[in-house]
Amino acid sequence: MAEKDDSWLTDQADHLIGVTLTRREWAPASVRDDHDHCALCWAKFAKLGLPGELHVGWCTSDMRHWVCQQCVDDFKVRFRWVLNDNPNLEID
Ligand SMILES: [Zn+2]
Repeated sequence: MAEKDDSWLTDQADHLIGVTLTRREWAPASVRDDHDHCALCWAKFAKLGLPGELHVGWCTSDMRHWVCQQCVDDFKVRFRWVLNDNPNLEID
């Protein structure tokens, strides 16, 4: 990882370019999952009561990919995200 530029970001997460992200309280996708990670910085979403765990994030419409608030702030322009902070409102 000697790269100075951060094109690795959009390479590793090109499936997230241009998607709609909805702000939600994190919830496990299934009972077998007790945590998720931010797709970009690997911050942990969980409700295990652990220090540093995140409880709210931004997820794709299929709820398979989560992005933390910090990464949304840092990368929303680069990834051209459509941000929906009202979960009751469907944007498409
Ligand atoms: Zn993140």
